Amino acid sequence: MSYEKVAENVYAITDGSTRGNIAAFVLPSQIVFIDSGMYLPLIKEFREKLEEEIGRKTSALVITHPHGDHIYGTKVFSDCRIISSKETSDRIRQSRKDLTPEKIEEMKKNAEDPSLFDGLEILIPTETFEHRLVIEDFDEQLIIKRTGGHTEGSSYIYYPKAKALMAGDNLFINSFPWAGDPTANPQKWIDTFKEYLSLDVDFFIPGHGPVSGKKKVQEYLDYFEKVIVLMRKLITEGYSEVKVIERANELEFYPPRQEQWKDLSLKKWYQFLTTK
Ligand SMILES: [Zn+2]
Repeated sequence: MSYEKVAENVYAITDGSTRGNIAAFVLPSQIVFIDSGMYLPLIKEFREKLEEEIGRKTSALVITHPHGDHIYGTKVFSDCRIISSKETSDRIRQSRKDLTPEKIEEMKKNAEDPSLFDGLEILIPTETFEHRLVIEDFDEQLIIKRTGGHTEGSSYIYYPKAKALMAGDNLFINSFPWAGDPTANPQKWIDTFKEYLSLDVDFFIPGHGPVSGKKKVQEYLDYFEKVIVLMRKLITEGYSEVKVIERANELEFYPPRQEQWKDLSLKKWYQFLTTK
């Protein structure tokens, strides 16, 4: 685990060691973490080291969306506000129930380092919001906004003063995004990319992959639009699901982190386009 200073008052782990990326925004009187990664001991270390380096305490954890690799470290923030959208909170509640001792044992068995799952417990958010929530600290603000896309509850956290935005899994930089969640919505996802591009942001912190600028966001927007336009056209022309997905699959893009992701994602998009 090593964290990087992305910009003034912006820190992140994006090296993959915590699976989902983690960001920390430093405000005048507090530190706010965004997402907690998969491995409790690593986020604990990040929090302790950053608090020591900065000389400020952590007040809140904001969760972008409810996938395991972003919420398994929540227990490190048991003394803080834990904030997410209502949809995300509902799913975290379910994940907490589903994470039985048997399931944790199973994960330990398959893990290279089982100690990373020691003490694993998912905490439920203490505060939820419908569309938007602002954290104010002197003259600075963090704007938290739900957009949907990767999941229905997916939200971004924008720090205007630092020109930084933590996108969670609405951005997978340099890999094919996981778009097969039951609530994934490619249209909302496209709208989210457009919203990102309209904001004054120099540093986009993705859910997976390195920090990047608007050029990368534009690249993902272009790809998503190209796929959706092609799929719509083929569906209108009466092509079968298999054929539509096969043709969409031919459009070149980054390889997925797991082989079946691209196929499952394109299937999900096909379903979305044919059930509306
Ligand atoms: Zn995710």
